[in-house]
Amino acid sequence: MANQSIVGTLKQLTETSSFEVRSKILFILIGILLGMFIISTIVLTVLLARAKTTKSADVNNDLCLNPYCIKAANYLVDSLDQSVEPCEDFYQFVCGTWIKNNRIPDDAGLQNTLRILDTKLNENIVDLLSATSMNEIDKLQSIINARILYSSCIDETEIDIGGIDPVLSLMNTKFGGWPILQGSSWNSSMFNLTNLLLKLRQYSYNIIFQIHSDIDEKNSSATNIKIGQGSLGLPQRQYYTNETNINIAYRQFMLNLAKALTNDTSMIDQDVKEIYEFEKNISKYYWTYDEQHSRHDETIRTTISNLSRTLNTSFNFTAYVHHAYLFGNVILKDMDPVAISELDFLIQTSSIINKTSPRILQNYFIWRFMMDQAEYMPRYIRKIKEQFNKIFYGTHVEQARRIKCGAYVNDNMGFVVSKLYIKKYFDQNARNESLKMIENILNSFINIINQSLWMDNISKVKAIEKAKTIGKQIGYPDYLGSNNNTKLENDYAAYVFNSSYIHNIFKILQIKAIENFRFLRKPVERKVWGNLPPTVINAFYEPSQNQITFPAGIFQMPFFDKDAPKYLNYGGIGMIIGHEITHGFDDTGCEFDKDGNRIPWWSDQTIEKFNDHKQCFIEQYSNFTLSQIHMNINGNQTQGEDIADNGGIKAAFYAYQNWAKTNVNMDKKLPGLTKYSPEQLFFINFAQTWCIKMTDSYALHQIFNSVHSPVQFRVIGPTSNFDEFDRNTGLVNGSFNTDRRWIVTENRLFIRSTFSLNDTSVKVNIQYNCSVSDYCDLEFLREILSSNWSTIQVQPIREKLVSRLYNPNNTDPIECLSNNNNSCLQNESLCLVKYYYWENDKDVVVFGACQNINNSPIVQWSQLYEPYGIGKSLTESGLYYCNTPTCGYNTSAIETFQMLSSEYILPVNLSVINATTSPSPTRTFPSTITSTSTLTESALTTTSNDAPCLL
Ligand SMILES: [Zn+2]
Repeated sequence: MANQSIVGTLKQLTETSSFEVRSKILFILIGILLGMFIISTIVLTVLLARAKTTKSADVNNDLCLNPYCIKAANYLVDSLDQSVEPCEDFYQFVCGTWIKNNRIPDDAGLQNTLRILDTKLNENIVDLLSATSMNEIDKLQSIINARILYSSCIDETEIDIGGIDPVLSLMNTKFGGWPILQGSSWNSSMFNLTNLLLKLRQYSYNIIFQIHSDIDEKNSSATNIKIGQGSLGLPQRQYYTNETNINIAYRQFMLNLAKALTNDTSMIDQDVKEIYEFEKNISKYYWTYDEQHSRHDETIRTTISNLSRTLNTSFNFTAYVHHAYLFGNVILKDMDPVAISELDFLIQTSSIINKTSPRILQNYFIWRFMMDQAEYMPRYIRKIKEQFNKIFYGTHVEQARRIKCGAYVNDNMGFVVSKLYIKKYFDQNARNESLKMIENILNSFINIINQSLWMDNISKVKAIEKAKTIGKQIGYPDYLGSNNNTKLENDYAAYVFNSSYIHNIFKILQIKAIENFRFLRKPVERKVWGNLPPTVINAFYEPSQNQITFPAGIFQMPFFDKDAPKYLNYGGIGMIIGHEITHGFDDTGCEFDKDGNRIPWWSDQTIEKFNDHKQCFIEQYSNFTLSQIHMNINGNQTQGEDIADNGGIKAAFYAYQNWAKTNVNMDKKLPGLTKYSPEQLFFINFAQTWCIKMTDSYALHQIFNSVHSPVQFRVIGPTSNFDEFDRNTGLVNGSFNTDRRWIVTENRLFIRSTFSLNDTSVKVNIQYNCSVSDYCDLEFLREILSSNWSTIQVQPIREKLVSRLYNPNNTDPIECLSNNNNSCLQNESLCLVKYYYWENDKDVVVFGACQNINNSPIVQWSQLYEPYGIGKSLTESGLYYCNTPTCGYNTSAIETFQMLSSEYILPVNLSVINATTSPSPTRTFPSTITSTSTLTESALTTTSNDAPCLL
């Protein structure tokens, strides 16, 4: 099970540069830094002067003037655009000036806080790897080897001298050559697909087909073999559907690379065409992220002995898996468990492969190897890849070589790098401090669960148990902090390198392959640090371990500082802690129990309601348009992260409020930002961490490939779903701001009028849920109810119900959910018919269902306002239940409504009013129906916070 992280990877966003360009960048950088220094100094002086001259001594006591607060005030003042109304556009308000003053570096597709931190982290890593000190720690073999690896990478002259021969030699001797370079002289008689894939798998390549060892999802204390779809050259199916500048650039990359490596160009054009067509064909069956997400239950569990029977494909997976694992000295047994996913992809692809010529297959698989290797080859080859990256990410130059090399060593020997890093850069205070924060945030999260109205009690108890057993990893694994280096040295014993960078690259690829095969036979250690090193700017939740991890790298400004006011820490790392905790309960996390096993642990009812909440997020986020490229977010793809963002901000905010209650006046304000309350600064700092500027190419890349929403929506989404945000930012001045809101969360009114056909009076039930005390009174309720009372037309319910439920011009039968032919079974009545009508787009949904009910016939009528989204505001809905003989067996929906229109007699006169209600936790439907008789206030109940979308 893959980690769920707070951010996507920053890898590949940047490329290296030539020395000349680097010098120029350095010059520009110095200029920018100098400029920033001057501006900061001026801002600081002004701030301090303002603090000194315009505030009384009392007020000064309320200011935080420690060095961190001064820095924080600076970066926030530099970011805010205070000419923007926060209630109009909170993201622009927080990030407007930042966006204006920041530029996207030439070697990247974006600029944001995380990237700035990532660059700084890599700079630090470079310093650590190039240090020449000879302390005890520097004598560790693993550290010596990491430094050798770094030196081999940084030596561009040596790489250029080494030329292309090492790569071509491996390709020719091990993999059978690349036909595209050999024209018609390539000999297909030696071609053997299984052998080719085995050789590539030994170098960690999972092209098209993926096999690897992982933790068993159903049994988190065991491992299994996973077989499923591998990778394509372009990351997603969408890239292949239409002709775009990206797939044109992709083919050009192939063409240019081949031309750079051979003089025989006779078949290059034809080969490129065929390679691409083959991949395009396969891509049609490739599962997207959201398909992998939503269809995970199609995973098939079997054993090695049953593999060929289960996977009845023309490609022999059984032989492939057996031989591959031998490379790691692992002999597979009959009963070794296997989990097969994306079965239809494996079947369809095997069949396509079966019909494809050896030349195309050989060309394709070697292309995939070569497109990666280009990055490690001499400069003139890397330039070819750079041209592709220019189109794909919008970058202009390669990343600085040393940064690239530092990042490479960190990616592959992360814990060795971390051993050096934590000693020099990690503030030990962060561990204790963040542990306290985690406890507080977990408590507020548990509170949210407790108060939720959508979970039943049994599910709540289990959810709380799961929350309480979440494992916590902070900073780094303990062994890295100790003086005993045995584990580190053992783990990296095979990582022995020489001065040839390409040799080292090939060696690492093989080591990683062997490590993964051997993982199958390793006992699973629970509650230990996972695979990702402390030296990343990220955070994780691991479902199979039920564990959250906050690596050392993220404990820095603007996320955390020991001297920061708590509102900054809670809006920074606090929100991230809340986000990771919520992952335990997102659409994937909620399927794993407290022990990390993917088995159902919620009641069906709670699961159903959860799915309603989930759908709510999907619809909300799918309506967000990234205006830069006029594309909407794929809410199905981002739902898990969106849920985590929404839960995270709430848990962190409530935790901060609780902290502030017991630490009255401890948090001082920031100079220059005194007009903002601590709560407002919580939200401002949260939003500031997401300020971004990106190229159009990167924006497209983000929409296609990221499970995270583009960051502006990571601000807009969670804040627009959170009442406390409105209250604390003064956005709505005490009233529902329904036109801006998708979901009215904590405060909701649900009024439903239900009566039977024989009733002469109408009973009104009112439920009003709220968490915000000043909304929670009868007066507010009356205000809402009375304001629109007179504006709604009074109509006899029969007329309206019948006209909506049965439209004489519509001869189509009403869809009956129970049966295809719209008639009920012998022992059933057509007892429920329901319709929805959305005023703005005239969308009408009518459906019926058959059940056997014994109660009196019932009619419900309501008129609803839906304050979500744009374009749908008024909804009417009607419900009809009956069990009279005429709506019984063999009666179609149409007949029932004909009967209804002729026989139904209105029991009382009704007036329809509107108000604010929430009949379903998914959306907020403000509305009601009541009789002309007095509202029965006795039925009013107030309950506490029920967050609509999960938590
Ligand atoms: Zn996440």
